[in-house]
Amino acid sequence: MPRKLRHVPSTPYVHLVSDSAFGSSRIRVDRNHPIGLERPATGAHRATLSCATCGDPVAITVLSLTATKLWRLGWLLASGLGLALVVTCALSVIGTGPDGDAMPLLTLGFLTGILLSVYAILHWWHEDGVRGPGLPWRSGRHYVRHFWAGPR
Ligand SMILES: [Zn+2]
Repeated sequence: MPRKLRHVPSTPYVHLVSDSAFGSSRIRVDRNHPIGLERPATGAHRATLSCATCGDPVAITVLSLTATKLWRLGWLLASGLGLALVVTCALSVIGTGPDGDAMPLLTLGFLTGILLSVYAILHWWHEDGVRGPGLPWRSGRHYVRHFWAGPR
């Protein structure tokens, strides 16, 4: 089962302390901070926190329990769609043999299905109904740690 949904989400936001490259290695040092916002009864609640490390504003959106469960359902459906694509392409290859003209398309479909299902099942597992100011590779110094493996 995915992580338990609480009235106050356990997903932290992150302050990126440093991001350094040494040859082909990249070292990121960051600090997690609890969000501490209660979920709204319905819809979404957007708030601006003051970062516990630097004091800068961090825009956070927290979804209601219902909205979070709908996101989880969406991720689960997307994962099922990916698995259906994998099975369909595999059965087509088994049915027609590997020499058919559609082989590149079936291979593309198979790989796309695997990627979609893995991506979606990871998001289903970790969906906590929290949205932050950006993604780790596109944002500045603050983001939400969606794949949080800490205390729940
Ligand atoms: Zn900060």
